[in-house]
Amino acid sequence: MELTALPAFTDNYIWMLSVGRDALVVDPGEAEPVIAALRERDLHLRGILVTHHHGDHVGGIDALRPCLKDGQGQVWGPARERIPAPFTPLSEGQHVSLLGLDFEVLEVPGHTAGHIAFVLRQPGGGQAPLLFCGDTLFSGGCGRLFEGTPAQMQASLARFAALPAETRVCCTHEYTLSNLRFAREIEPDNHALAEYQAWCEGQRAQGQPTLPSRVGLELQINPFLRCTEPSVQAAARRHTSFSPTQRPRPGEAPQDLAPESLAVFAALRQWKNDYR
Ligand SMILES: [Zn+2]
Ligand SMILES: [Zn+2]
Repeated sequence: MELTALPAFTDNYIWMLSVGRDALVVDPGEAEPVIAALRERDLHLRGILVTHHHGDHVGGIDALRPCLKDGQGQVWGPARERIPAPFTPLSEGQHVSLLGLDFEVLEVPGHTAGHIAFVLRQPGGGQAPLLFCGDTLFSGGCGRLFEGTPAQMQASLARFAALPAETRVCCTHEYTLSNLRFAREIEPDNHALAEYQAWCEGQRAQGQPTLPSRVGLELQINPFLRCTEPSVQAAARRHTSFSPTQRPRPGEAPQDLAPESLAVFAALRQWKNDYR
């Protein structure tokens, strides 16, 4: 199995997985990079997986349909969102079987209301699991809350954080360096973060992606996954005044997450929205 990040637009990646001569892509916002990669590597497109409805994730679907081998290939997407039809709608806990691989569907609302993610727990060949998380988790950051609440997003991120540490995180955008600048502001004394930032700068200087990341690494460096850390809490409190006892609205509280951690998360997300 081979995993490739196809650059698209200014900072998107269309992830391509291939096994032998068969391939699938995740979130093809445009068709051209996919068509070029299929031709270059002599691959057949067998399926398209979609995480959410934004144009930079679905814009290439219709132009790619003729490539879906013998008309047998399919498009799978979130049941609760408007994706270019026809597509097979997916909900929490469903599985997609493609290229002989099993993808589990997680519903992860926050960035959009019906956002889903795909987990490939057993890629085979001793390879680490893969997570295709769309615009929910980024390396060093997380997606904006266009249609969801901070509590929903934090609960979605917690599901990723619970995956095996070696899980490779395939995010859709190369936002890493700008996220890490913000993360350093939150945790200037985090050595793992400083080291990772230097590595990412090297990657970008050579025109290489910083992705995929890994769950274990994100737990060390991503402030949005570190809302229970005293250093992160102190930074959030310095920037935004909120009562430590502030509680989420009724029905919003994700289990297992302290209200303090949620207030910190909401403060960080708001801070990042305005951060330049
Ligand atoms: Zn999006
Ligand atoms: Zn996007």
